[in-house]
Amino acid sequence: MPIGNCTSGLDMEKLVDLNEKYNSSINNMECKNCWAIHFCKICAAARMSPDGFINPTRRECDFFRLATEFRFACYFHLSEEHPDLLQKIADYLNDPKHFIGVIDKNEFEK
Ligand code: SF4
Repeated sequence: MPIGNCTSGLDMEKLVDLNEKYNSSINNMECKNCWAIHFCKICAAARMSPDGFINPTRRECDFFRLATEFRFACYFHLSEEHPDLLQKIADYLNDPKHFIGVIDKNEFEK
């Protein structure tokens, strides 16, 4: 989906068109009625297709919701059984000197 080029710059009409297509793809009843909407990681890039944007299949959404349930279960388990470890992980995630987008378990064995 080219949105311009190095010679002429951004194509504003193309950007508006893409924005409208994206909005129409995410404004669907499945997402509006989905309990995981605030945790869903399906962004515009993941929905891109050569002709616009496509929504995930029902089976893919079932997987995303299951993965969200798993993350909630991990959080509840840690908060009930290992609150100290949960605090260490939170501190680690909020420390820009260490956290680079992935959790290195070796950081917790020191
Ligand atoms: S899991 Fe599927 S239905 Fe739910 S918000 Fe994400 S894309 Fe929409």
